[in-house]
Amino acid sequence: MNAPLHHLHKVELQTRDYKDEITPFWCPGCGHHGVLTGVFKALADLGVDPTYLVNISGIGCSSRLPYFVRSYRMHTLHGRAGPVATGAHLARPELPILITGGDGDAFSIGGGHMPHLARKNPNLTYVMMDNHIFGLTKGQVSPTSRSKMKAYTTPYGGTEEPLDPILYMLSYGASFVAQSNATNVKMTASLIKQGMEHRGFAFINVLSNCPSFNDIDDAKYFKSVCEEVPAEHDVSDRDAAMHIVNRAAQDGKIPVGLLYKVERPTLDERMAALVSHVGGHKNYDLRKIIDLARP
Ligand code: SF4
Ligand code: MG
Repeated sequence: MNAPLHHLHKVELQTRDYKDEITPFWCPGCGHHGVLTGVFKALADLGVDPTYLVNISGIGCSSRLPYFVRSYRMHTLHGRAGPVATGAHLARPELPILITGGDGDAFSIGGGHMPHLARKNPNLTYVMMDNHIFGLTKGQVSPTSRSKMKAYTTPYGGTEEPLDPILYMLSYGASFVAQSNATNVKMTASLIKQGMEHRGFAFINVLSNCPSFNDIDDAKYFKSVCEEVPAEHDVSDRDAAMHIVNRAAQDGKIPVGLLYKVERPTLDERMAALVSHVGGHKNYDLRKIIDLARP
């Protein structure tokens, strides 16, 4: 398997060098501040060149994260970060691409795209900030909200069961699946770093509290339920990863750490192989193909 190509542009920078001049405008105490610090640390540890970094988001409080990171960024449509990032990956497979967004954006509006990211295996790193609520629109239940949760549009309690993003991604075959807690910046940074080093689709769910609209799943609660994945866990064993999540849930716990990692061909590698198979050249230029369609 090839080494990540973006390491060709390795630079030596400090975490502060990745900060954009726009100061984060999230609420005080929002977990996303911790995730952003983790992103900065991962980028500095990897030596990612900001002039090659792509940061793509959908819509939501957490989808504002690219504003705060020196990068080429796209704040796209609600739920559509995945397809846009897939296009960027196919056009420029050598670039490091980071998707950052929330639980509502990913699994409600963008829910139709998540299984396809997992199965297609584009070389992307998806950092989901999971606060179990829609924050930007001021507090509605999301696909990860706990059962019967009372919120702005569910004053008598929600009527749906939550989905588990980790079990979901394991089921659909994502090649790298991990979970962290926003207050654990060290672990979050380490998992983002490992996810970006991984060639393939890396999904990292970060429990990130919303003190403004979810005072049930607060920072104290998330910290109390997190338990680290056992050191002896074989990360290539998908059944074992699922078992860890299910076993923890029986005790009201949430596993954090690397749960699954496997290497398999990425989307761009399969496309290049296909182009080669039908007689094309692996360095085909998409712009030339588009030009052919111009009047
Ligand atoms: Fe963070 Fe919630 Fe404020 Fe949005 S509303 S910035 S998620 S605390
Ligand atoms: Mg949310």
